[in-house]
Amino acid sequence: MAEKLALFGGKKRVRLVPKDLFSWPRVNREMEKMVLEVLRAGKMSGSDITKEFEKQFAAWHKRKYGLGANNGTAAIHCALFGLGIGRGDEVICPSITYWASCLPVFSLGGTVVFADIDPETLCLAPDDLENRITGKTKAIIVVHYCGRPAEMKKIMAIARRKRVAVLEDVSHAHGALYKGKLVGTFGEVSAFSLMSGKSLAVGEAGIMLTDDRRLYERAVAFGYYERSNELTLPELKAAAGLPWGGYKYRMHQMSSAVGLVQLKKYQEEMAEIDQAMNYFWDLLEGTPGVRSQRPAKNSNCTMGGWYNPLALYRPEELDGLSVTRFCQALQAEGFPARPGCNKALHLHPLFNTVDVYQDGRPTRIAFTKKDVRERVGSLPVAEGIQKRVFSVPWFKRFYPEVIECYAAAVKKVVANYHLLLKDDPGNPVDGGNWGLTFGV
Ligand SMILES: *Cc1c(COP(=O)(O)O)cnc(C)c1O
Repeated sequence: MAEKLALFGGKKRVRLVPKDLFSWPRVNREMEKMVLEVLRAGKMSGSDITKEFEKQFAAWHKRKYGLGANNGTAAIHCALFGLGIGRGDEVICPSITYWASCLPVFSLGGTVVFADIDPETLCLAPDDLENRITGKTKAIIVVHYCGRPAEMKKIMAIARRKRVAVLEDVSHAHGALYKGKLVGTFGEVSAFSLMSGKSLAVGEAGIMLTDDRRLYERAVAFGYYERSNELTLPELKAAAGLPWGGYKYRMHQMSSAVGLVQLKKYQEEMAEIDQAMNYFWDLLEGTPGVRSQRPAKNSNCTMGGWYNPLALYRPEELDGLSVTRFCQALQAEGFPARPGCNKALHLHPLFNTVDVYQDGRPTRIAFTKKDVRERVGSLPVAEGIQKRVFSVPWFKRFYPEVIECYAAAVKKVVANYHLLLKDDPGNPVDGGNWGLTFGV
């Protein structure tokens, strides 16, 4: 006889939650000391500690240049300018991501073309990407979504064949390996958010990496007027001293100090997260209705820090039970499940009707010859994904007995799913969120 669901008055399956199981980031003495040094030296707006951080971060990825920024959005903005995105250029981006992956394209006069995601990886779908490349396509943005490396082999082959640049948004997957190689080292340029909710958490901060000197210098010229002395390209030097973008993106040095300490311990922390999350998913192997977004075991690919870990939900294996109802039952068991993920960007008014810069046309098509806006129904996986994923707990510690309780909660709900069908409210029409992490 199955245990009674907590939703119907049974005993909760998850009762004891150690305090440090989820607490993040981990602050240590060395970090406190380094931050205080910056503060006491009055170096908050300097660049010396930032440059050391850039050097170490770039070295970790074996990339030539690193450029710290005040957040990940700024790092993406600089990368796009570095790539030369301008008036009328098309940039392809998956529809399921955080807005900052592509929205900075607007202020450069370019437009975004959205591509669908793959239902298993939840990252850019290579086949769909190929169909969306035109003579105007200048760059492809790849997002390693919620820790999972995108299909870089296929994507890079398409990009090379079509001669289009690749920008990797690595905000969700610091340290992930794709076929043994770090993500953020495949494209011409990569950008990382380092905000405190991400797996490599340093506070409001970001970083851009590239091997391309010209791209790096363009990024510096765009948002770092105080680093003009690094410019060597004649066209940039000739107009140095003011930021071309009109933006000031310098990284705060208290964050750089935190970053230096985080770099020392991230590998170890990531390894513990990996052990914990893989343990959880191993326990659930073969459970109907749910599976992990993680790569196959023998693929030489790894999850990078498991930011906002997701379960792929398969309602067809549970007689169509909605993910909303499934998550209600899990929550009652003490398992913090949240249905959905980032909402599909191509359906938001900002990408359809809003005339941000008063051009007399929606910004999305202000400088394009043809209408690039996607019709409803044209990105079927992205549009249906809110019904087919939910967030699972992001374990920071490998506490096997506790993780076993969480896995048991999932199995308990699955074992009783037929009892949940009766009062299933179904899913809301507008599931998901525009952001995944707030106020941390
Ligand atoms: C967090 C995030 C960003 C933006 O980074 P911020 O540091 O918050 O500005 C960009 N892309 C993705 C996919 C993100 O999740």
